[in-house]
Amino acid sequence: MVLILPLAASYARAPVSNYLVGAVAAGQYRKHSATTSDCAALYFGCNYEFLGLPLNYSLHAEQAALSNAWMHGETQIELMAISAAPCGHCRQFLHEMANGRLLSLIFPDFSEVILTQASYTASSINLKMTNLSLLLPDAFGPSDLGNNQSLMAQQFDSGESIKPPDLSIMKRQQWVELVSACVSSYAPYSDNLAACGIMLKNGQLIIGRYAENAAYNPCLYPLPAALSQLNWMQSGDLENIENIILVERSSKISQRSHAQKIIESLDLNIKLKLYQLDDFIDLLG
Ligand SMILES: [Zn+2]
Repeated sequence: MVLILPLAASYARAPVSNYLVGAVAAGQYRKHSATTSDCAALYFGCNYEFLGLPLNYSLHAEQAALSNAWMHGETQIELMAISAAPCGHCRQFLHEMANGRLLSLIFPDFSEVILTQASYTASSINLKMTNLSLLLPDAFGPSDLGNNQSLMAQQFDSGESIKPPDLSIMKRQQWVELVSACVSSYAPYSDNLAACGIMLKNGQLIIGRYAENAAYNPCLYPLPAALSQLNWMQSGDLENIENIILVERSSKISQRSHAQKIIESLDLNIKLKLYQLDDFIDLLG
């Protein structure tokens, strides 16, 4: 996992910081096919920044890796390797998982490098392996707000029962997948279940789910989550995007302006299509 971190980091889009971060998350040990023994799948993550927007729009590598694992059906992360120590924002974000406190983390330990800077070489970097409960003691988390749900753990809804409003922009099965992602997103604090779909010119639909946090600010927003999934694909160029569709449940908050600002920042020349889960009225036409 540590050895492939530079590859994960090479996908980073960091036009503001030029600081490339890679993360690799290991899912649960299980049988992935009939012919293999139990093993854990690995999921890449990297940071994604947006020109012209406040810094809090940035997606961190650890969030991207969790999102990638979640979108591939994982319900837990056992271990995560990161190219630098996780920031406070990510420690808080990862704490939202049911097993968050037990999550093992591995990253370069630069503390000794500072002491011996004169003899520093790349091969001399030590690795630190620890867990989240040690990195985030006395943590504030879901139970402090009376929430007994956990990030990644909720049941997947097929979305089959929800009638599509208009299939002119996507296939029925794609609509079902997008609605399923919306209803299985994680919004225990606002009830604003949400998912974003990026429709490519070749007809593929790339989806990202929303995930909230007890501390509110370290949320995973649906459009950055979808853009991050698109980023791993061979056809991942932004110019291949045909449409961006946001589906959300109406509540006291909305993902609409966040997604619109990002579309503007990326100069996509696309109008966001917004559907409310409650009535499927395309609010933006
Ligand atoms: Zn971070």
